[in-house]
Amino acid sequence: QAKADGRNDFRFFDQRLQARLAGLSEMEADLRLAIGRGELQLHYQPQVDGDGAVIGVEALVRWFHPVRGAVSPGEFIPIAESSGHILQLGPWVMQTACETLAAWAHDEVTAALSMAVNVSARQFHHPEFVNQVIAALRLSGANPMRLKLELTESVLAQDLGVIAQKMSALKALGVTFSLDDFGTGYSSLAYLKRLPLDQIKIDRGFVRGLPGNANDAAIVRTVIALGQQLGFEIIAEGVETDEQLDFLCRHGCQLYQGYLFGRPVPLHALLPVHDETPVPANG
Ligand code: C2E
Ligand code: MG
Ligand code: MG
Ligand code: MG
Repeated sequence: QAKADGRNDFRFFDQRLQARLAGLSEMEADLRLAIGRGELQLHYQPQVDGDGAVIGVEALVRWFHPVRGAVSPGEFIPIAESSGHILQLGPWVMQTACETLAAWAHDEVTAALSMAVNVSARQFHHPEFVNQVIAALRLSGANPMRLKLELTESVLAQDLGVIAQKMSALKALGVTFSLDDFGTGYSSLAYLKRLPLDQIKIDRGFVRGLPGNANDAAIVRTVIALGQQLGFEIIAEGVETDEQLDFLCRHGCQLYQGYLFGRPVPLHALLPVHDETPVPANG
């Protein structure tokens, strides 16, 4: 009896596993078509300075699947990475974000905003990566100085010399780099020393525990101090409460991103740039 049950359990598990595997490959196949079908969209989340003024946005890709509905990038970006579809998706994101950035240059309210774009490991390490970014900048006419590329430590788990070379080629044009999800990887300190980074982004996982969690508080204070001493700009992600903001601000964090200031939204919902009412310039 026990043996039979065990066997059933196993078969049940096996079926679910197969379904899961099939589900993934189905998603993979759908992802291949998603760009052409216009199912991908960029949303933009504001980044603000200490006065609460919006200084830029992060572009975050969204997939509206005809059957599954909204699929989170946390779910499909890893599939895009492993299947290689990221090599179509990544350049689409870059091109679309650069077009938005170029359009903003014509309006004094938006002209100074920066655009942060996430770059995945496979995309970054592709031999054509640098050329693709240059092509997106040229085709769109976007100002490279306003483009910030966010790298995660998964991008950097390879030869740092080669990575630094690619970064330098883009930095020569004015493009800047942020180290995303800082503190969640293995050898963050080596990256800070050896790569031409401009900004460190404190991971949401550390911000979440502020100000009450003593470990998170100590880590965040230390990261800010370290970043300051090494000359990096510091941004905190996932800022949701006034208490978190207060802690970060008191310890010298310069920039903030999180639901407290705004969720990622489609372009038309972001800023009143297409509003008919004239917006007064500063001062
Ligand atoms: P990330 O680059 O660290 O982006 C920040 C994530 O935190 C976003 O999730 C954002 O919506 C979420 N977030 C921002 N503020 C808050 C907050 O206050 N509270 C909470 N709970 N969450 C907040 P999202 O959009 O689901 O993206 C997840 C991840 O998917 C991103 O993490 C990034 O690694 C990846 N991703 C998104 N878009 C792209 C893309 O275009 N290309 C690549 N390669 N990866 C992308
Ligand atoms: Mg990011
Ligand atoms: Mg992040
Ligand atoms: Mg993150």
